[in-house]
Amino acid sequence: ATPTSIMAGSGRAAELGVLFKGGEQLEAAHKVDVVLLDKTGTVTEGKPALTDVVAVMQDEVRFLRLVGAAEQGSEHPLAEAIVAGIAERGIAIPEAVSFEAIPGCGVRAVVEGQTVLVGTSRLMDMHGIAVRHVGARISELEESGRTVVLAAVNGRFAGLVAVADTIKRSSRQAVARLRKLGLRVILLTGDNRRTAQTIARQTGIGEVVADALPEGKAQIVRMLQSKGHKVAMVGDGINDAPALATADIGMALGTGTDVAISAADITIMRGDLNGIADAIEMSRLTMGNIR
Ligand code: ADP
Ligand code: MG
Repeated sequence: ATPTSIMAGSGRAAELGVLFKGGEQLEAAHKVDVVLLDKTGTVTEGKPALTDVVAVMQDEVRFLRLVGAAEQGSEHPLAEAIVAGIAERGIAIPEAVSFEAIPGCGVRAVVEGQTVLVGTSRLMDMHGIAVRHVGARISELEESGRTVVLAAVNGRFAGLVAVADTIKRSSRQAVARLRKLGLRVILLTGDNRRTAQTIARQTGIGEVVADALPEGKAQIVRMLQSKGHKVAMVGDGINDAPALATADIGMALGTGTDVAISAADITIMRGDLNGIADAIEMSRLTMGNIR
């Protein structure tokens, strides 16, 4: 492409809220044939709400105080939703004295002398905690598209909370557009398989890779590249940064974290996934490669 057509292409993309880091990225995007979409905050609004509470060891208020205290130090959208939901229930949340985030898994904190773990089943497995008596409830919640967050207190399973996130209004249409462009679309998430499959079905995405840790997301990108694919990764979170940097084209949402934006080649200013198709169409146009 000529410098003039690159200038024109970048300008038109910018009008659509699609910012290319440079001309090189505008030229490269037309080669993409696989698009990986992060779930939370990308396909969904990333503003989940606390919907269910199951306390198995103590009463619900005591349980939620500990969960809230542990999550208060986390910047994860799930944690923010859980803390907000607990506060809305009029429960006073105590301070945690020690806090540690375990990326893609959850948090660990000490609250009123008790060690509290909040997060995925992998987090429970890592600490040898058996999750008992709630298997059917977990399946049911996950099949409805909710994310289940497990909690343990002093090494024993204490209960769970569930959060529901809404799919962005534009996601389904944007996915259909990507498929029309001949692209293979895959949902790539750190969330569990059942929840991910429900969200994928509701959005028209045919393939799902679930339970992916941040480095696991980058590995999926490399695996696809080794098969000759040109991969676009779209994400919003710190957990997406390694995959965004590894992908042939990393696309961050302007609504996402600074870490994701600086790891990406393209920023989609509005959170709307139509920006992905806009970016690829603009690149194809610029490269005179309209399919
Ligand atoms: P996604 O790929 O959907 O954006 P993440 O990689 O950020 O998700 O997180 C993967 C999973 O780890 C989440 O679905 C959640 O179950 C769990 N998790 C991560 N951080 C937290 C937290 N602070 N509190 C509870 N669960 C968490
Ligand atoms: Mg995300």
